[in-house]
Amino acid sequence: MLKLPIYLDNNSTTPMDPRVLEAMTPYFLEDYGNAASRNHPFGWKAEEAVDYAREQVAKLIGADPKEIIFTSGATEGDNLGIKGVFEMYAQKGNHIITATTEHKAVLDTCKHLEKIGGEVTYLEVNAEGLIDLAELEAAIKPNTILISIMYANNEIGVINPVQEIGAIAKKHGVLFFTDAVQAVGKIPVNVIKDGIDIMAFTAHKMYGPKGVGALYVRRKNPRVKVTAQMDGGGHERGMRSGTLNVPGIVGFGKACELCMQDMEADTKRISKMRDKLETALMLLEEAYINGSTKHRLPHVTNISFKHVEGEGLLMGFNKNIALSSGSACTSASLEPSYVLKALGLGDDLAHSSLRFGLGRFTNDEQIDYTVKAISDTVIKLREMSPLWEMYKEGIDLNSIEWAHH
Ligand SMILES: *Cc1c(COP(=O)(O)O)cnc(C)c1O
Repeated sequence: MLKLPIYLDNNSTTPMDPRVLEAMTPYFLEDYGNAASRNHPFGWKAEEAVDYAREQVAKLIGADPKEIIFTSGATEGDNLGIKGVFEMYAQKGNHIITATTEHKAVLDTCKHLEKIGGEVTYLEVNAEGLIDLAELEAAIKPNTILISIMYANNEIGVINPVQEIGAIAKKHGVLFFTDAVQAVGKIPVNVIKDGIDIMAFTAHKMYGPKGVGALYVRRKNPRVKVTAQMDGGGHERGMRSGTLNVPGIVGFGKACELCMQDMEADTKRISKMRDKLETALMLLEEAYINGSTKHRLPHVTNISFKHVEGEGLLMGFNKNIALSSGSACTSASLEPSYVLKALGLGDDLAHSSLRFGLGRFTNDEQIDYTVKAISDTVIKLREMSPLWEMYKEGIDLNSIEWAHH
């Protein structure tokens, strides 16, 4: 039996894999020691578990375990990575290059730094959602210390040319930070091959628990350091104080191991469902895929259904399908998604978009239900829409003055 609602919002968070929960359980009730307690077996056991998880996490991204700093998630990782470099390399310069389609955790961190003497260049993206590499290189100045470009975008799934960005950064002696939340565990990420110096990622977007993440900080070629953003006991090589979230870290490690083990099979199965969903929905009139379909995560598609409001669509199928719309991405505001607007979409197309994020626990039956529910709802809403009627009569809707809300 098909269980409703169907979860297709895996870019927001993923359900935890039961195998992850199983690995975590003993660390709540039996092995509850503080990993920093050196004097008794409770502490030793916790430390041992953290060490093992650190290896599992490092292995997934081709890093050394010593290069993994555990955090509370990627928001903290983005803050620690960017602010930490800004402070540590203040002697060298104050200029950061990023892009307009970054996650808020990066953009708001950069905005904060602008208020305290930082200089930030926000690169625009093309209609595919990609930055121009020549523009990136041209933006580098003598005072540039950091390039911060995400690995893959959370709204459209577009994958940036990370290796090329890494090479440009290296050529100019600038550090390369990447928010890799959406990529790690889903596609092969290797910090050496990709030329990444600092990288934030998080467990709850890869079938692990919420509230735990990691910051990769390169230890050689070059040796990178970030200034701690929290003062305290000097955990995590002095870069992140605070008692370690042992059960969370154990779960994160297990989640990484499972992603590594299942990546190929998961990708094959999930991308097949994504393609089936996309192909079926593109049979609808005036449906548009947002962002590059060539450089894209295997489990994501973002589609605009012209003249239908995304929020209205969600209501149309009684919220039986958990999805994100381009209207409601930034908190409670009804502003259209700034990512879609950066691709050059008008307010109307941005408002009419839905983001489909498939995952490890998505199945064919759910996809079939989704195709039917969305197709029926789009057709029904358009039948009631004066805009659609005008469009069908051949009236140029661009010639009409719209009142904005
Ligand atoms: C979810 C997300 C974050 C925030 O991660 P948390 O662990 O929830 O703080 C940062 N960047 C991107 C791209 C994300 O998708």
